[in-house]
Amino acid sequence: MRLSRRVEQLPPYLFVEISRKIAEKKARGEEVVSFGIGDPDIPTPPHIIERLCQASQDPANHRYPETDGLPELRKVIAEWYQQRFDVSLDPDKEVLPLWGAKDGIAHIAFCLIDHGDIALVPDPGYPVYSIGTMFAGGRSYYLPLRERDNFLPDLSIIPDYILKQARLLWINYPNNPTGAVAGLDFFNRVAHFARKHNLLVCHDGPYTEVAFDGYNPVSFLQADGAKEIGIEFHSLSKSFNMTGWRIGMVVGNATVINALLRFKSNIDSGIPQAIQYAAIEAFTGPQDCIAEHNAIYQRRRDLIIDVLNNIGLEAKTPKASLYIWAKVPQGYTSTEFATVLLDEVGVVVTPGTGYGKHGEGYVRLSLTIPDVQLVKGLSLLSKWRSTRSTLKVKR
Ligand SMILES: *Cc1c(COP(=O)(O)O)cnc(C)c1O
Repeated sequence: MRLSRRVEQLPPYLFVEISRKIAEKKARGEEVVSFGIGDPDIPTPPHIIERLCQASQDPANHRYPETDGLPELRKVIAEWYQQRFDVSLDPDKEVLPLWGAKDGIAHIAFCLIDHGDIALVPDPGYPVYSIGTMFAGGRSYYLPLRERDNFLPDLSIIPDYILKQARLLWINYPNNPTGAVAGLDFFNRVAHFARKHNLLVCHDGPYTEVAFDGYNPVSFLQADGAKEIGIEFHSLSKSFNMTGWRIGMVVGNATVINALLRFKSNIDSGIPQAIQYAAIEAFTGPQDCIAEHNAIYQRRRDLIIDVLNNIGLEAKTPKASLYIWAKVPQGYTSTEFATVLLDEVGVVVTPGTGYGKHGEGYVRLSLTIPDVQLVKGLSLLSKWRSTRSTLKVKR
């Protein structure tokens, strides 16, 4: 069978070797503690599930939904943006519900990118930005995120000939995998840059509600004239522990939103309406669950940072997101170090290179690990370190 180039070109799954080892260990009955997965372990709040169950009983919700979502959901999303970010949106033109943010992230390139066009993509970054670009026939130009720049891309180093072919600029704050945050000053600079170079800014913002120590992330749409040059992806996955229900949204520039709607109406037939009602409940119901979840993540964050620092792994305390981005000790690549931890300790961390070549030298630990596992994993790491007096930390 001859497969298409776009499928043949898909990068090999980077964690094959690690996944195989995890499976082997489990088969031998050995315990494996995973800090690898970025998927909330806390269940969806009960009032949201109740609304979902209720809505699923209504035969009106058993039929094809509209691709552009329930008008009520679009209205609720616009109201939430107004109240949360002080951003006004036209619910009929500037809001589109999605099958999770990933749906829109993977498909937006089809609306902006023609053969050979370029998307500017952060490295390290969520892999779907560049894969969506490749599927649409485009190419990615990677923008390194470096610790010395607080993991913000340096836009001034992009060559002119690249900018001439570039159509999209991807950014993502609070950031996966680095845990970095960006303020309005950065977003204003990005908006200015995009206007000057005729780019669409795609801001991926699923972690704006996952923040600690009173930090309050901003929306890209708060930047000057953002709606003229930008869209923002958002999701209920991380805000309301709804990764399993698949619902998110994109908001912003009306022309782009309409293009994505036209594209998607040929691919899917809308989001199951019962799930849309669950989303309405999430945005309009009690919001205390967000603070409760953040308190849990913050406590886990502090426990992990403490142990990492004690065992000599350098990691900054993230103000937001679900991730800790830790430096690997000297003498190891990301993958080698992740493999050592798995082999010798039974602890899974994600090698930074899974998110791009500039992820080299780091591993990612996720805060979505149940407390019992977390405590076990941390004690395994501490014990292991005490047997390894030669470990050097990379500077
Ligand atoms: C989790 C995540 C998403 C995907 O969210 P869904 O709404 O579940 O599809 C998108 N971008 C980043 C950076 C993420 O970490």
